[in-house]
Amino acid sequence: MDATRYTDLNTAQRTLLGPGPSMVHPRVLRAMATPLIGHLDPQFIAVMNEVQELLRYVFQTENELTIPVSGTGSASMEAALVNFIEPGDRVLVAVNGYFGERLCDMAGRYGAEVDRIDRPWGEVFDPQEIADALKKNNYKLLALVHAETSTGARQPDIATIAKAAHEEGALVVLDTVTSLGGLPVKIDEWNVDVAYSGAQKCLSVPPGVSPLTISERARTSLRERKSQVANWYLDLTMVEKYWGDARTYHHTAPVSMNFALREGLRLIAEEGLEARFERHQANAEMLWAGLEELDLPPLVPKEYRLPSLTTPQLSPSVDDAVVRGRLLNEYNIEIAGGFGPLAGKVWRIGLMGFSSRKENVLTLLAALKEVL
Ligand SMILES: *Cc1c(COP(=O)(O)O)cnc(C)c1O
Repeated sequence: MDATRYTDLNTAQRTLLGPGPSMVHPRVLRAMATPLIGHLDPQFIAVMNEVQELLRYVFQTENELTIPVSGTGSASMEAALVNFIEPGDRVLVAVNGYFGERLCDMAGRYGAEVDRIDRPWGEVFDPQEIADALKKNNYKLLALVHAETSTGARQPDIATIAKAAHEEGALVVLDTVTSLGGLPVKIDEWNVDVAYSGAQKCLSVPPGVSPLTISERARTSLRERKSQVANWYLDLTMVEKYWGDARTYHHTAPVSMNFALREGLRLIAEEGLEARFERHQANAEMLWAGLEELDLPPLVPKEYRLPSLTTPQLSPSVDDAVVRGRLLNEYNIEIAGGFGPLAGKVWRIGLMGFSSRKENVLTLLAALKEVL
């Protein structure tokens, strides 16, 4: 074995303005280099408690069962479904983008009878159409996406939708991967039962852990299951004992990732949620104005446009791949292309967490102007 073939890692200093991962604050990187301790060390247990407290703050919830799942956002997404679905349960999914599709796929794999209502990519649902669809069957749960990263649309009126679901006896599962920490997510006020997120979007922590919060109504449903949860690793009946007072070993928490998450959340607490949301909104508005000037108008109407993820429409004269390649190679800026029905039609520009800074917006707009 010739070990000299493998050089030191020497990655470029990228400005990450895609759909995630977002840029990571140096304090978070330093926290990850903290000497390792055991996962049942009293000092780590204190970290676990602090992470849970800070997660309740960002989710705006009192939910006791609020934890970081060990795995990326998709792991939390699986946990949000597998714990509340038994084979044959009816599930309704509102689909207006890629992540709604993925919810259908996952729910089906756990044996749910999946019904869906659809909206074209880039649009959002009227709460009334979801309320009407909920009446058609006896649904165990309704799943939907708050911030569709594939389209840049923010689903409004979550509280109204949750009320309609509860009237029909359904639990509400909400994907907040691209909203948590970037725009208001009010789990208790909206009465959401299960919400999950990811570390590497608006929380600006590297991928690897993913926040999850579970209401008392959902916990009761979990206790009333007749069958075992179909996934051992994500089974909350066991995981809750590890994160709760019992501290019963289930799997080894990714210790360094929890150090990172704690620091990322501490940065959010220091900034304050309101100030953070205002920063995301202000920088997004600056980006939108600049994109209009470059003849790249955002796809999504302003009322429900995400501040964390913008999808400018490309005119036919713009060569999608060439421009993105030049941004990366000449300017060290990462943005992403569209996919599914939006492939070649839009870009996806993320301004999430530590990436949401005036200097990044101005650098991107200047680079785009040069390249175009
Ligand atoms: C990124 C994302 C996920 C999946 O998260 P990963 O960290 O990529 O596993 C799920 N839902 C939405 C809306 C996302 O943007």
